[in-house]
Amino acid sequence: MTATENLIVRANKVLTPNYRQVKVALARGEGCRVWDVDGREYLDAIAGLATCALGHCHPALIRALEEQARTLWHVSNIFYNERQVELAEALLAATPWASRTFFCNSGAEANEAQLKLARKYHADRGQPERNEIVACHDSFHGRTLFTVTCTGQQRYQRGFEPLVPGVRHIPYGEVGPLEEALTPRTAAFIVEPILGEAGVIPAPAGYLKAARELTRRTGALLLFDEVQTGMGRTGKMWAHEWEGVTPDLMSSAKAIANGYPMAAMLATEEVGTHLTPGSHASTFGGNALGCSVALAVLREVQAILPRANEVASRLWRQLEALREGGRVEEVRGRGLLIGIKLAGVSAPEVLALARERGLIANAIGDRVIRLAPPLILAAEEADEIARRLGAAIAAAQEGGG
Ligand code: PLP
Repeated sequence: MTATENLIVRANKVLTPNYRQVKVALARGEGCRVWDVDGREYLDAIAGLATCALGHCHPALIRALEEQARTLWHVSNIFYNERQVELAEALLAATPWASRTFFCNSGAEANEAQLKLARKYHADRGQPERNEIVACHDSFHGRTLFTVTCTGQQRYQRGFEPLVPGVRHIPYGEVGPLEEALTPRTAAFIVEPILGEAGVIPAPAGYLKAARELTRRTGALLLFDEVQTGMGRTGKMWAHEWEGVTPDLMSSAKAIANGYPMAAMLATEEVGTHLTPGSHASTFGGNALGCSVALAVLREVQAILPRANEVASRLWRQLEALREGGRVEEVRGRGLLIGIKLAGVSAPEVLALARERGLIANAIGDRVIRLAPPLILAAEEADEIARRLGAAIAAAQEGGG
């Protein structure tokens, strides 16, 4: 039995079976590469599902974590802590429309915070009936009961009913249904700039701008879920910058601390100040270790973004070229968040063949391959991703390895 097989047998006995896992057990990482428990090396083109923006074991992050680990790990939020304030200042400096930050531990928690705050904002202003949330079909916002209710995919909701009342769904990217859905009872519209979990589907140009205008006109808040698209993933710090549109509230998680559990909700002054003492909290939120790592991540991401964009263009050119083989129907997304829609070959099968060639990525359904490599990707590594993926697609087309 290999070390991988042994670990899988043990895992299947002791872990809840809620993850559909591929048969790879990872033990170590460095830069854009990871090694499994049997010592096999992979180029990591998915980076913890868009989380490890600076790759694995980045020296600046190790330094930040080690230094903080020797100084202070955690204090309750009943006290102030320096790192938390520094990180909030740095995040807000990178996000000009926002002036308040709430820290928590996951994307779902950051979305939960913005959804709760949207309701509270209106309740505080004497409009408790403004409590409905409009969300999109095919969206993904997390797994807490409120966020899974907003998630527009029934398969994540089945068995967990009754869901949170007051949430309705509309088609993504269509202005007409949004206009119809916004009523005097609407607290907020929550939307991803790019649908991540539904197969990397960008909002049509102008959609976020229309959403801003409509929410402003009708008195609803606009909430962006940038859990997957934020922190440089699409080539700008936040994906909504591409549209020149600003929300009232926004969530960030995943890459914010490169894999150290950490998340944030950013808010305007007008709305953020309604999260009054005692109304919301988190024991670990804004933990000194997480904030220290996130500060280092933010500095590094800002420094490397121009180069990441050059490498992204190089990768896009090569992926577009794969369309010539006839098995790639569409390459979509932005920056280093890329969906490759296949035709006539199955995404899980292509990825199994890619693993044999030393490349890991992620399948969304049967047809889409998601790539979200570290932003530190080197030009040669981008070439390697395209080459290995192209070979795997060709092998799948021929009917085997
Ligand atoms: N929102 C989006 C857009 C996501 O992609 C995810 C996770 O994939 C979440 C929210 C939930 O984040 P978490 O798993 O950290 O709770």
